[in-house]
Amino acid sequence: MREYSIAAIPADGIGPEVISAGLEVLEALTQKAGGFQLKVEKFPWGSDYYKKHGTMMPANGLELLRPFSAIYFGAVGAPDVPDHITLWGLRLAICQGFDQYVNLRPTRILEGLSSPLRDCKPNDLDWVIVRENTEGEYSGQGGRAHRGFPEEVATETSIFTRRGVTRIMRFAFQLAQQRPRKLLTVVTKSNAQRHGMVFWDEIAAEVSKEFPEVIWDKMLVDAMTTRMVAKPASLDTIVATNLHADILSDLAAALAGSLGIAPTGNIDPERRFPSMFEPIHGAAFDITGKGIANPIGAFWTAAMMLAHLGEKDAVQRLMHAVERVTASGLHTPDLGGKATTREVTSAVCDAIHSSNV
Ligand code: ATP
Repeated sequence: MREYSIAAIPADGIGPEVISAGLEVLEALTQKAGGFQLKVEKFPWGSDYYKKHGTMMPANGLELLRPFSAIYFGAVGAPDVPDHITLWGLRLAICQGFDQYVNLRPTRILEGLSSPLRDCKPNDLDWVIVRENTEGEYSGQGGRAHRGFPEEVATETSIFTRRGVTRIMRFAFQLAQQRPRKLLTVVTKSNAQRHGMVFWDEIAAEVSKEFPEVIWDKMLVDAMTTRMVAKPASLDTIVATNLHADILSDLAAALAGSLGIAPTGNIDPERRFPSMFEPIHGAAFDITGKGIANPIGAFWTAAMMLAHLGEKDAVQRLMHAVERVTASGLHTPDLGGKATTREVTSAVCDAIHSSNV
């Protein structure tokens, strides 16, 4: 029996609701599949922890997480704690501390869902966004001086290193090569950002020589938003900086139906550290505690985590069950339905139990 240890960090807002739904679905999968087991440990870190202890996680948090096979993360953020504290204190501390330099965001239109784009057919939108996850615009470099005076100044410096850009490009080209269309779009802003982004373009051209089968092109990030809306079928694998991909992937999720369905993995491809999987949505305070959060993003996230652990059959079974439920029309309000988190979760568990995949 293969056994994996999972550190669950539900954290804030709807995080606990969707992560407990996800754990229930994972439990149904292990019961059905046999062959592997998940040993789950929950960590009560996040904004409530911060209000009691002054930090989002204990000082030895990374040490505690390190032995786990993977981390299953909910969402961070609280109305009464500044966003930069919640983000840097937990999510980014884990991403950076474990050098999870790839943020992987698959997007497609699941069965039974539709895009807000009038003419977009399900097969027109099947993308994977590769986001650089440790440097760029979110490297935390900069500062504030002369606070409160008219000459007050703030700087936010983007960092692009040869090592950092090369490894994310190589990952993106490799991924594009494995996908049927072998198509990669490198997003930049090298007309206006004439140092870091020109460097990014040059390294893309260098790395492309290792992957002669991959057809690739470059897009400025502003033109990219238009292409995603106007010509979705012209895209497949997309690589972009930390900031650009952050924005593009929210747009991608919305174009695929809802922010509530989209998953992401923060991955250390070298597997020196545990990778972390989370739905891309945030804490969503407007619906917290109402029992209507869409758990599909957390389920698809669980599938990404299982794929990382090498459990391919379980991934197929889980996504098949999810799409049986989305196709049945049982949708939460963000998808225009009336179903609750509980109803969707039970339906997916039932679909797993009755599945012959
Ligand atoms: P962050 O900055 O952390 O990404 P945010 O405040 O920009 O967070 P979200 O918290 O993700 O954004 O919420 C944006 C909108 O999407 C809200 O109206 C929220 O209710 C909705 N939303 C997000 N996730 C879900 C979900 N799982 N189910 C239903 N609605 C959701």
